[in-house]
Amino acid sequence: VRKYRVVVLGAGGVGKSALTVRFAQGRFVSDYNPTIEEEYACDVQAEGETCLLEIMDTAGAEQFTALNEVYIKVPPVSSSKDHPAYPIQRARGFVLVFSLTQESTLQDVDNIRQQIQMIKAQEGQSIPIVVVGTKMDLAREREVTRDTIKDLAARWGLPFYETSAKNNWHVTDVFHDLLGQMRRR
Ligand code: GDP
Ligand code: MG
Repeated sequence: VRKYRVVVLGAGGVGKSALTVRFAQGRFVSDYNPTIEEEYACDVQAEGETCLLEIMDTAGAEQFTALNEVYIKVPPVSSSKDHPAYPIQRARGFVLVFSLTQESTLQDVDNIRQQIQMIKAQEGQSIPIVVVGTKMDLAREREVTRDTIKDLAARWGLPFYETSAKNNWHVTDVFHDLLGQMRRR
């Protein structure tokens, strides 16, 4: 079985864990635990082939930045409890998450996007990335319009999805798009 490692990144509270758990376990997590850093494995069908998708749900953008610097300077020796299981170098695909209800979280996505492209640029290949806006069901709290994210994503040259982990809107689309990108590389 072919294995694909992906990392879910974005600011705290935007819904990374809810999105990941919705996809991997088919349920909605309504409580917020900002410290959870967990990996999930699930079988996904792609073009009639069963693939193993390993999804690393990370704990937040600040932590990401610090770890990121560590991994730029020091190649990972092995994964242990002190280190993320899938630092950028070992991940093949990235889910960059912001909340449609909090415009400031788009900035984190842009920062992370630039860091990934800087680190991965030497590989000289396009990097599988999907941009995800969450909490689409909270329509009255929405701060980011569809046009805003559409224009930004077009400028970045990345696909985007508006999702709701609560209502299970477009969650599978995110991971199938990313798997497709990774398989075409
Ligand atoms: P993380 O820090 O990025 O992992 O954020 P969480 O996944 O823990 O989500 C933070 C809070 O937002 C939690 O209370 C979630 O239940 C809530 N949340 C996440 N996704 C959605 C969604 O699609 N709709 C709604 N209404 N709430 C969501
Ligand atoms: Mg989380």
